[in-house]
Amino acid sequence: MAKKIALANQKGGVGKTTTSINLAAALVKAGKKVLLIDADPQGNATSGVGVDKSELKQDIYDVLINDVPAKEAIVKADKMDILPTTIQLSESEVQLVDLPDREYRLKNALLPIENDYDYILIDNPPSLGLLTINSFTAADAVMIPVQTEFYALEGLGQLINTIELVRQGLNPELEMAGILLTMYSRTNLSKQVEEEVRKYFDDRVYTTVIPRTVRLSEAPSYGQAIIDFDPKSLGARVYTEFAKEVMVQYG
Ligand code: ADP
Ligand code: MG
Repeated sequence: MAKKIALANQKGGVGKTTTSINLAAALVKAGKKVLLIDADPQGNATSGVGVDKSELKQDIYDVLINDVPAKEAIVKADKMDILPTTIQLSESEVQLVDLPDREYRLKNALLPIENDYDYILIDNPPSLGLLTINSFTAADAVMIPVQTEFYALEGLGQLINTIELVRQGLNPELEMAGILLTMYSRTNLSKQVEEEVRKYFDDRVYTTVIPRTVRLSEAPSYGQAIIDFDPKSLGARVYTEFAKEVMVQYG
């Protein structure tokens, strides 16, 4: 059965989507079967793996709201399967409220397909609304990208509190996969933030740290993960390292 990991942080721009795409691609390269789920209406993961949103007949919205089987909405990107999104998903936060099992819709949708994959990675919007709650209810673990910048720790308490609430009410099995430090630069600030996060969260922080590199920000506009866009780049090497760390953790 697939290990289901939700990438979440209600802050935008911390590296959730970049990590979803590049971790997924590195796991594929290591021989794993991976499904990437784009649960952010902005759809950056969908376009980032080269899927043309205008050609999609169905997407995660239809799965969550219209009971379309996930298998019918999943498309093959170049290197992995993706359950894509379009902007219509932005309407779902309001529509989910009135649906039965509103927090369990993603979980239920994944039940028939989770044996088809080794890993299911869920990219989330920058909020703690019903889409993220659906991801937490469906997932085994939450991975938290944290940007090594000022205010990095702001909001982390609220996020961890939300994970705890989901664990108490909706998904007792949910664990914290770990914190991933992202966009690290050779500055004292990055170093200080790293020290602070490691002091506070200790062994729940991944050893791998993702540096800030221009190539990582360029890859999505070519619809490619970094290991395909520029296999020899620092970003490609680091996400390959990170995938190894995740495979030690989850197999
Ligand atoms: P989120 O999904 O949390 O909003 P993204 O992954 O979209 O964050 O990253 C925000 C922006 O920063 C994007 O433009 C992305 O290309 C860029 N970015 C992400 N990680 C890095 C990195 N390690 N180095 C340089 N740019 C990055
Ligand atoms: Mg994103």
